[in-house]
Amino acid sequence: MNGHPTREEDFDLYALGALEGDEKRAIESHVAACSGCAQKLAEARGRIALLAFAAPAATPSPDVKARLMSQIRAGKRGEARVSTVSGGSEPARGFFGRWWAGVLVPVGVALAIAALALWIENRRLDQQLAALHADMQQQQHQLQEAREIADLITARETIIVHLAAQPGMPKGTAHVMYNAKTGMLMYEGQLDRNPGDKAYQLWLVPEHGAPISAGVFNASATQTDHFMMKLPPGIAPKAFAVTLEPAGGRPEPTGPMVLVGAAA
Ligand SMILES: [Zn+2]
Repeated sequence: MNGHPTREEDFDLYALGALEGDEKRAIESHVAACSGCAQKLAEARGRIALLAFAAPAATPSPDVKARLMSQIRAGKRGEARVSTVSGGSEPARGFFGRWWAGVLVPVGVALAIAALALWIENRRLDQQLAALHADMQQQQHQLQEAREIADLITARETIIVHLAAQPGMPKGTAHVMYNAKTGMLMYEGQLDRNPGDKAYQLWLVPEHGAPISAGVFNASATQTDHFMMKLPPGIAPKAFAVTLEPAGGRPEPTGPMVLVGAAA
């Protein structure tokens, strides 16, 4: 076939595996060289796949069923054209000799469609399972965090330190809950929004030694910011402080102090 297939349903029939002989070879050789028709064949395959999924909006052209049935009746290669059995009035030759084709061809097509439907369903279930798994992991994470907050709040060793704004600095207020025994820390506060190239950084100032970073954060300004942090256990704090640092934070405080509170 040098020209494009003249009937649109040829693509559907080919995608269904219902074309045989010259018709099949003609489409195959033409599609290999014609990107337009290759595209139409890809669309037909999509239609057939949707058909297997019983999507009502995706029906193949109305001639497909008639041609498929006539081909099954004809039973012989190359006799599958509608024109040879127009109106269905003339029984095709070889019908009795090929009676099994009337059974096997529809069964084969049905099996192919069923296999395709199963494959699509399996893929859908795999995706659902993955989504459920991610969901469960997130819930476990939230539960774990809720437990840690509860433990922190109820532990006798937990201290609460209120942090106050410093003159000439962004306005805000915050408090830190800290358990030196476990190293668990929770920050909760409200601060003016930080400039885009800066970030706030919370520090634990120990009784001995250099300040320890206890979290880098951006202030949302409109709502309370809070985060939890696990520090090495056993560090006695002298104070907690928030400084303004270059975005990403620093290993030691370099910027101005915005909030500070002594650990009584
Ligand atoms: Zn073409």
